[in-house]
Amino acid sequence: MRWQSRPGERSPCPGYHRRMPGFLELDGSMGEGGGQVLRTALALALVTGRPLALSRIRAGRSRPGLLRQHLTAVQAAATIGDAQVEGAEPGSQHLVFQPRRRRQGSFRFDVGSAGSALLVVQTVLPALLVGAGEVELVVAGGTHNPSAPPYEFFARAYVPVLQEMGARVECELVRHGSHPAGGGCVRISVRAVPALAPPSLRTRGPCSARRGTILLANLPRHIALRESAVVQARLGWQEAEIEVRDVVAHGPGNAVLLEVQHATAREVACAFGRRGVRAEEVAGEAVHALEAYLHSDAPVGEHLADQLLLPMAIAGGGTLRAVAWSSHARTNAEVIARFLPLGFTAEAEAGGTVTVTCRPGAG
Ligand code: ATP
Repeated sequence: MRWQSRPGERSPCPGYHRRMPGFLELDGSMGEGGGQVLRTALALALVTGRPLALSRIRAGRSRPGLLRQHLTAVQAAATIGDAQVEGAEPGSQHLVFQPRRRRQGSFRFDVGSAGSALLVVQTVLPALLVGAGEVELVVAGGTHNPSAPPYEFFARAYVPVLQEMGARVECELVRHGSHPAGGGCVRISVRAVPALAPPSLRTRGPCSARRGTILLANLPRHIALRESAVVQARLGWQEAEIEVRDVVAHGPGNAVLLEVQHATAREVACAFGRRGVRAEEVAGEAVHALEAYLHSDAPVGEHLADQLLLPMAIAGGGTLRAVAWSSHARTNAEVIARFLPLGFTAEAEAGGTVTVTCRPGAG
């Protein structure tokens, strides 16, 4: 099966506002209709300098419109791009975003809730990778959230690929923050480079290392020990390969992080403890997530695949073989192809893997 994005295609923007010549008008309900349409569109408005008019933001979600994490992403993008903005209010389903110039220096943003700090970082990071100058971002919020990259995934699966593409990015976890208390903090330093090399991630080679980390904040240790026992029993890992770490955080928190390192690839699977869910079930979710990777021979996990589409686009091309091609990734590819003269193709292979190629032109 072959899927292909359509560069330059106009989506039917319902138009809450006047038509704006020169603006890229985007219907936020396209594809999955979630926050990723907003984040990718902001990233590319910064990269291209093109003004953006977004309607029906997160129309596909049960609480549509801009939530705190999205508002912080808008604020971060507006600060970095010195942008004029309309519609950046809680619950707003439309946004006008007009970047003027790329700023440099140190910036601090605060989600003000447990919303993901790393999704805020990923909104502005693509625009900081290429060009000139240095930026330091300090973002407060959640660092270990369901439905977002946990810090370890960001630092040990996503950033290493950017570095392999030539990007100069360093990151640091300043403080853990879990849902619902938040209060975490990350610091990211980026020095722009002239260009990124298109990635070619086709194979992963043999597994060279594996480790489990169980994070506990303000919770009893037996939770982590029960989780560790499930990981040992289900994956055959040794107790010594699973570290239990008590961390300082504002509220209770528990994350099970399972990492594998291959010769040319890495994956970090995770699950998060929450009220009413037994520790054994949480660990089982993390194992299940890692098994999707272990049962495949693709180098790129499902989440990493959707997150690498923007860097690939900025590099002007590239290829990756992924465990799966999610509707999230498809939506992301469609947004990118509205901004840039390139397209993505996804070729499904026997065994469920998919080869995703980004090429200039019509894809
Ligand atoms: P919303 O509409 O609520 O803002 P969304 O639809 O944009 O959210 P998701 O689809 O949940 O958000 O995904 C957000 C991002 O987080 C995606 O890039 C996805 O790959 C990433 N992500 C989600 N779960 C994980 C995970 N376990 N590990 C790494 N990345 C993850």
